[in-house]
Amino acid sequence: MTAYDPNNIFAKILKGEIPSTRVYEDEHTIAFMDVMPQAPGHVLVIPRDGSRNILDADPAVLQNTIVVVQKLAVAVKEAFDADGVYVAQFNEPAAGQTVFHLHFHVIPRHEGAALKPHSGTMENFDVLAANAEKIKAVL
Ligand code: 5GP
Repeated sequence: MTAYDPNNIFAKILKGEIPSTRVYEDEHTIAFMDVMPQAPGHVLVIPRDGSRNILDADPAVLQNTIVVVQKLAVAVKEAFDADGVYVAQFNEPAAGQTVFHLHFHVIPRHEGAALKPHSGTMENFDVLAANAEKIKAVL
C-alpha cells in the first residue's frame, strides 16, 4: 500500500495551511464542511493522526473518530431536519477515494432528494458558512 503523504490537502487543513469551514474540533478529531457537498450540511470528520485510510489507521484512532462521526450525524440530522443520515468512507482509488487522509463523509438525507455527484460542484463560501453555523448551533 502507498505510504501516507503528510502533504495531502486534509493534512494542510489540519495544520491551518489552507482554509476550511470547521464545525467541530477536539484533541483527536476535527470536522469541517465539504467544499463540494453532495447535499447541504455535508461534513467531513477526520482524525488529527495521519493515516491514508481505514486500512492503515490505528484502531485507537478509529475508536475516537467514530464517536465524533456519531456526534456529527446526530447534529446534521437535527440541523437540517433530515429524514436520515448517510455515512460513507472510501479506501483507495478503486473504491472512490480521492483525498488520502482518513475521513468519513456525514451527509443529511431527505426522502426523495437525490445526492449530488461525489466531488462535483464547488459550493459558495457563504452557503458553507451558513450551513456550518446551523450545525454548530446544534452542537
Ligand atoms: P473522498 O473521495 O476522498 O472520499 O472524498 C474527498 C472529499 O473531499 C470530496 O467530497 C471533496 O469534495 C472534498 N474535498 C476535496 N478537496 C477539499 C478541500 O480542499 N476542502 C474541503 N473542505 N473539502 C475538500
